[in-house]
Amino acid sequence: MKKIGILGSTGSIGTQTLDIVRHNRDDLHVVALAAGSNIGLLEEQIREFHPLYAAMWNEEAARELRVKVADIPVKILSGIEGLIEISTLPDIEMLVTAIVGMIGLRPTIAAIKAGKDIALANKETLVTAGHIIMPLVKKLGINLLPVDSEHSAIFQSLVAESPDTISKILLTASGGPFRGKITAELPGKTKNDALRHPNWAMGQKITIDSATLVNKGLEVIEAHWLFDIPAEQIKVIIHPQSIIHSMVEFVDRGIIAQLGIPDMKLPIQYALFYPERKPLKGESVDFTAIQTLTFENPDTETFKGLPLAYKALADGGSMPTVYNAANEKAVSLFLQDKIGFLDIYEIIEGAMNQHKIIPSPNVEEILTVELETYRYINAIQ
Ligand code: NDP
Repeated sequence: MKKIGILGSTGSIGTQTLDIVRHNRDDLHVVALAAGSNIGLLEEQIREFHPLYAAMWNEEAARELRVKVADIPVKILSGIEGLIEISTLPDIEMLVTAIVGMIGLRPTIAAIKAGKDIALANKETLVTAGHIIMPLVKKLGINLLPVDSEHSAIFQSLVAESPDTISKILLTASGGPFRGKITAELPGKTKNDALRHPNWAMGQKITIDSATLVNKGLEVIEAHWLFDIPAEQIKVIIHPQSIIHSMVEFVDRGIIAQLGIPDMKLPIQYALFYPERKPLKGESVDFTAIQTLTFENPDTETFKGLPLAYKALADGGSMPTVYNAANEKAVSLFLQDKIGFLDIYEIIEGAMNQHKIIPSPNVEEILTVELETYRYINAIQ
């Protein structure tokens, strides 16, 4: 029986994680759940999974939840302290970090320091603090298992392989809803257009990131830290069918890939049970029905989210934090219909251009850079 905590239990990854728990009641036990403000769903989850602890970001929401679940023996926490307390509970063996945004950073670091294994969905954590997290993971000998489907595919392709035989990582991308469009066709695109992802059902922020290719940019940086591979050896390939979830080419030019129907349950379950593989119900790939798998180079002229990520990684230090924070703010403005689609790139580029890099920022400096980036964007809006 593995005891787990889930940060972001009411989101897309969080609810799919709980679905896996539902089908593996003898093997997984939920000790703690955390969400932002969705009181109704968190209450339902508490009643179904009986965690000992739950947290809401918002104190007022936490107070309301305490009243709603007064008949159940569960302790309701709130704020960043609540997230950190949940992440470090002695009972928890593995923390699923399925919270969205940089808010996941401090709880994840606290969990690693407390010796917890991590199933990492929150890519913003490694993007901003890979230089802090990866040495800690190594030093403390914990398992950091990727939940992102591409990184899970790379991880699965590397089982039984020696890391120094990797020649290239081939990171696949669907291309998102605007694949094939040129810049002139993008200014009028609304959030509803951008939220129409062709293959994956995900949270709003990551779906917009897929449309801008910022998601792929974040994944390049994440792959760099997870697999200790320089940016030059990470190549993005557009693969619209999303059947190949990513590949690794080795020094002998042999390639190992992981394939499957686009379904996040597989990488989530793989991370929860690694190194074991468990049965998972659902559709299988029918190659004769699909017949064709296609590949293209990304259009980096139009979808600047990708080249800006390579630049942020090359600049290093605090620059990936600026890239990430500027994107978080810009996506939030786009989702509120306050800016246009292409403004997202302008905001990220503008924030990066005005930033003075801190070479190896500590956590406080990362969080300060985040705030300064938000301040810069607020000032130009
Ligand atoms: P969602 O938007 O669907 O869910 C986000 C979750 O985070 C919700 O439970 C939300 O709670 C919670 N949350 C937001 N802010 C706070 C906060 N301040 N304190 C506590 N909880 C908070 O996101 P996704 O599930 O799509 O993505 C989660 C992470 O996983 C992201 O980093 C994303 O990049 C990554 N990821 C997602 C994939 C996917 O398929 N969805 C694939 C690969 C990676 P509430 O509901 O109350 O707002």
